[in-house]
Amino acid sequence: MATQTLSFNITKTDKSRIDQLDPQKIIFGSLFTDHMLVADYINGEWQTPEILPYGKMEFTPALASIHYGQSIFEGMKAFKSEEDEVFMFRPLENFKRFNISAERMSMPAVPEEIFIGGLEELLRLDAAWVPKGGDNSLYLRPFMFATDEYLGVRTALNYRFMIIMSPAGSYYSQAPKVKVEKEFIRAAPGGVGFAKCAGNYAASLYPAKLAADQGYTQLLWTDALEHKYFEESGTMNVVFIKDGKIVTPAVSSTILKGTTREALLQIAKDKGYEVEERKVSVEEIIDGLRDGSVTEVFGVGTAVVVSPFSAVGYEGEDLPLPEVTAASVSQILKTSLNNIRTGKEEDKYGWVWRV
Ligand SMILES: *Cc1c(COP(=O)(O)O)cnc(C)c1O
Repeated sequence: MATQTLSFNITKTDKSRIDQLDPQKIIFGSLFTDHMLVADYINGEWQTPEILPYGKMEFTPALASIHYGQSIFEGMKAFKSEEDEVFMFRPLENFKRFNISAERMSMPAVPEEIFIGGLEELLRLDAAWVPKGGDNSLYLRPFMFATDEYLGVRTALNYRFMIIMSPAGSYYSQAPKVKVEKEFIRAAPGGVGFAKCAGNYAASLYPAKLAADQGYTQLLWTDALEHKYFEESGTMNVVFIKDGKIVTPAVSSTILKGTTREALLQIAKDKGYEVEERKVSVEEIIDGLRDGSVTEVFGVGTAVVVSPFSAVGYEGEDLPLPEVTAASVSQILKTSLNNIRTGKEEDKYGWVWRV
């Protein structure tokens, strides 16, 4: 299903490291496949992309992206079917979002034939690295950063777009306990919350560390102006089950528009669930946890897929959630999404992209 063919300069590794991959013991983001893609943007033009053995790069200490943060990324996954076919899941959505992030960070758009064509080319070369079974997949990380050797603050003139890939299994070994954050913020109106830009994650680390010191795995961010409404959690959108209905914050300029969120809501609607995308107040959810009308709270995103929370921490008090079972909405939706992505369930949506 290649969009448009483009020639890539390919240098294959002479020694695969695939023997380092143990599908039973995958630690997220720690092992990388044999090859990577590198495409440079110089003097206003994309150069011929290169596929090279994964490895280190040289850079100048004056690299613009290190100093001023023009750096964006995407996170997506490839899956292997029982028959060993390799699928990507809605890669065009990630491609479009990448260029939305690029525009906000004053970076050049990456052409589809480099982004999608590069993913396809890499996946063909490193197909053996897509682990099968359970929650296993190959995590795909396209990213771009400014490469000017220059210390003035300005929109850089030169950039590097890259793709690296890393085998992934389950993200959390235990259900996370999350803290409602009412002091620090992730994003504000007019800011960059909707972009997958590196700085957003840097800014989240200190509040996350304070929460970790109090025993929480993740934060539930609230709005910047009043801390009254839920936004999202870590690198996940957040979903609540209240009175059997699916309730989730509507996306806005301060919430990242998750592809997992969108797919799960579509599946849920088709299964007959009522779905409400709207402002969700902290008060409504805390009251619901207390009176039992809120029965599930879970994060949804590419890395975690669906991650049910074990408890919500609010003003020093932990409000526990019921044990997750096969009948939990989170699990019903997750199973369906995983089955579609791995070719076990019919893909009536046209979401699966055969490589
Ligand atoms: C990536 C990300 C998500 C989830 O997006 P997906 O497309 O579902 O992976 C949600 N929130 C933030 C802040 C993210 O960075």
